[in-house]
Amino acid sequence: MGLILGVVVVAGIILFLLVCCYALFKQLLGAIERVLSGTLSEPIIGRSVLARRTRNAISSLVRQITELKSRAEVERSNLSAILESINEGVFLLDNERHITLVNESALRIFSIESSPTGRALVEVLRSPQIEMLVKQAIIEKSRKSREILHETRSREGYSKRHLAVSVAPVKGEGVSPSTVVVVHDVTEIRRLEAIRKEFIVNVSHEIRTPLAIINGFLETLLEGAVDDPELAKSFLETMSRHGNRLNLLIEDLLTISRFEFGCERLQIAPVYIHEILTNVVRQLEPRIRSVGVNIILNVPTDLPHIPADGFRIEQLFFNLLDNALKYAKSTNPTVSFKAFCEGDEMVVDVSDNGPGIPIHDQPHVFERFYRIHKDRSRDAGGTGLGLSIVRHIALVHGGNVSLYSVPGEGCKFTVRLPLRGPNAQKPNSNGANVSSSLEK
Ligand code: ADP
Repeated sequence: MGLILGVVVVAGIILFLLVCCYALFKQLLGAIERVLSGTLSEPIIGRSVLARRTRNAISSLVRQITELKSRAEVERSNLSAILESINEGVFLLDNERHITLVNESALRIFSIESSPTGRALVEVLRSPQIEMLVKQAIIEKSRKSREILHETRSREGYSKRHLAVSVAPVKGEGVSPSTVVVVHDVTEIRRLEAIRKEFIVNVSHEIRTPLAIINGFLETLLEGAVDDPELAKSFLETMSRHGNRLNLLIEDLLTISRFEFGCERLQIAPVYIHEILTNVVRQLEPRIRSVGVNIILNVPTDLPHIPADGFRIEQLFFNLLDNALKYAKSTNPTVSFKAFCEGDEMVVDVSDNGPGIPIHDQPHVFERFYRIHKDRSRDAGGTGLGLSIVRHIALVHGGNVSLYSVPGEGCKFTVRLPLRGPNAQKPNSNGANVSSSLEK
């Protein structure tokens, strides 16, 4: 009987302990599940020492997880701030080369409109060159870089972009391998390089021609032509003409470089358009007479003054009249000036009845060294820089210049200058940044 009682008591104790253990594990499990599900509420498990220690351990676990979570959150937002602030496009790929992360610049460079996350890189970019570079980097487990010419399609149409692509495998302990693709759009840099190269070629060509002529005549003179006074005189005249051309070219190049490198300091003072145009006509009077051009000055004397650099404004209209005289047609050539105020601008039209400019050349006439009437320009001492200087002067004054021309009937150049001066320029001043480039 005593034995049976003993067994029952022991069994009862075991059962009680099992129930306690079960309750403890249940609470423990509940607490861990809450931790895992992110509710992170502190578990309450009885008053015993074990319960207290378990509670403390779980509380410390909760604290550590919370800390890790907020640290990961801060790191994630730092990473996203860095990714969004850089100009380079960044793609992070998983081990199947699917996109897991992408920044705004990447979307912009490749004109991607909807989120590409989860899709294969090759399907999104459609660039076999980038895909090959990614595969190479993964197989060789090393960084690969290359510059490619990539064609993107956007709402505006197709555009070709020079992209410097760099692919690097990301090594991480215990995580599946990923790959980072960084894309730098170097289209603008390559474009400016091409413009600079072209500029140097043009300048060298422009300088080489008159120099070669001067040298040729010098050699002929030295070989004996100097003894024939009449021949020597004509040679010297030709040399002097080409010397002057070189001089003009260097002057124009210096003017352009001052504008383009932003070192031109305008001397702003009240400028009266009537006075400026009268001066320009006076300066070119001998040529006007020799070409037989009829000048019409439709410029009221009571027009308001504009704050501007008088020397540069005079140079602007000098170049326009000089061109009109250079390209004037032989019968009844006429150049007319018309000035008036429109809104907050002074508008000056300079029209001629010369050969005009072919439609397809019109968008380019303000570019450096762009010539349509090449021979006539060179024969008349043109440098191919006159209209480019005109454009620069208008832009630094916050204005602009445009061309209207019907081929065979003449040209009309319209110059618009703000009545309130260069500092009152509107943001739409052709978007041209005069100081930044050797562009046009
Ligand atoms: P250039 O020194 O050759 O005159 P510009 O920059 O002044 O250089 O002009 C560029 C080109 O535009 C000229 O070579 C010429 O072919 C054309 N052009 C300029 N003004 C006129 C005009 N009034 N009539 C016809 N063509 C013109």
